[in-house]
Amino acid sequence: MPQPLISFDNTEFAFEYKTEKQLKKARFLFSSMGRSWLVKLGTRITPWAIKAGLPIKGIIRSTIFAQFVGGETLEETAVVAKKLGEYNVKVILDYGVEGGDDGEQGFDHATEEFIRVINYAATQSNIPFMSIKVTGFARFTLLEKLDTLMHAAEGTLMKKYLKAIDDLSADEKEEWHRVRVRMMHICETAAKKNVGVLVDAEETWIQDPVDALTILMMDTFNKDKCAVFNTIQLYRHDRLTFLKASYTAAAERNFVLGAKLVRGAYMEKERKRAEEKNYPSPIQPNKESTDRDYDDALRFSIEHIDRISLIVASHNEYSNLLATQLLQEKGLSLSHPHIHWSQLYGMSDNITFNLAHAGCSVSKYLPFGPIKDVIPYLMRRAQENTSVKGQTGRELGLIKKELDRRK
Ligand SMILES: Cc1cc2nc3c(=O)[nH]c(=O)nc-3n(C[C@H](O)[C@H](O)[C@H](O)COP(=O)(O)OP(=O)(O)OC[C@H]3O[C@@H](n4cnc5c(N)ncnc54)[C@H](O)[C@@H]3O)c2cc1C
Repeated sequence: MPQPLISFDNTEFAFEYKTEKQLKKARFLFSSMGRSWLVKLGTRITPWAIKAGLPIKGIIRSTIFAQFVGGETLEETAVVAKKLGEYNVKVILDYGVEGGDDGEQGFDHATEEFIRVINYAATQSNIPFMSIKVTGFARFTLLEKLDTLMHAAEGTLMKKYLKAIDDLSADEKEEWHRVRVRMMHICETAAKKNVGVLVDAEETWIQDPVDALTILMMDTFNKDKCAVFNTIQLYRHDRLTFLKASYTAAAERNFVLGAKLVRGAYMEKERKRAEEKNYPSPIQPNKESTDRDYDDALRFSIEHIDRISLIVASHNEYSNLLATQLLQEKGLSLSHPHIHWSQLYGMSDNITFNLAHAGCSVSKYLPFGPIKDVIPYLMRRAQENTSVKGQTGRELGLIKKELDRRK
């Protein structure tokens, strides 16, 4: 393996865009999230308190929201996006609605908001992508039903998908048709405006119809360039095989496969459900197997980089570095148009800003939306940052190092 091109230790680059006051606030937040009892309590109480209308929005806005979210509106978020652009850091805009419970009207509204995001992104030089969640414009229980029907069917993913639609009631067929129209509208607008659409992956029990729909969009819009990207969660033990099958489909149908590689954010929920419902867990047995498959997925994607447009979406330093080394081994440029790196806003600035300094195309995944809509996202961030071995220690160490350096 060649020598690493990049070091992630430079905290001066990492936090250049933060004032001392902002860094101190971040230090306080990450120290609080290090206390698992506090996170456990907070993640239980907060969603309930918001629903009950208790006056806690102010404190959320000035703490966890300020750290991980761009703003409540697109206009507020644009200020953050511009700031990041000053440091050659790009942005993936994410209108943070998920699992919307406002019915068809809410789904239409979310679709309009996605279109508004695309139109705005198209006017900005540092916003090449936006992300969507299919649960933002489709009823969760309909996705769940389709997924169950697909599991009962036989054949390829597409055959199962068509059979499942066939098995829906007349009303459900119409409802699904509206979902497809919304997805088509989003992808078509994005392709025309040259903005990439990243389709987020959520729970396994709704993922098959999301995959099928996304592959159909890639087949339509990814002929010349990559407009639509699927998300592959390598904490699932079946996803390396799925990535390879998606590549085969792309080669056969002659489209570019857009692949955003993540480890996966719903591990506890997945394991709990599998245990409760008594089916084998879809999650890898341990962290090592997730890491192995993630890095193998990187190797496979870079090996086939002519047909795969890859997004390395991770805070894992080894994996991020590995991607740069694999490119180097193949004699490819770090700014190859088929590779992009991304980290969540509020996390791993040392990776993002040092990659940007090295000339990589790299972004922050920047969610925005009303506080009540981004609560599930914030609760996942709190949980992810609580583990002792995990992110909190890393983040806190870096922030402290930079505060010391500035003294
Ligand atoms: C730009 C971007 C977009 C994202 N989009 C999505 C998305 O669409 N869907 C989604 O689900 N997530 C998404 N994520 C979150 C992502 O899945 C991870 O939760 C998060 O990035 C942590 O993983 P990591 O690669 O950064 O690295 P690490 O910190 O090295 O790994 C932590 C991850 O490893 C896995 N893991 C930990 N312990 C175990 C164990 N005992 N057994 C098996 N696996 C284990 C889990 O997935 C855990 O989140 C996104 C992340 C980024 C940066």
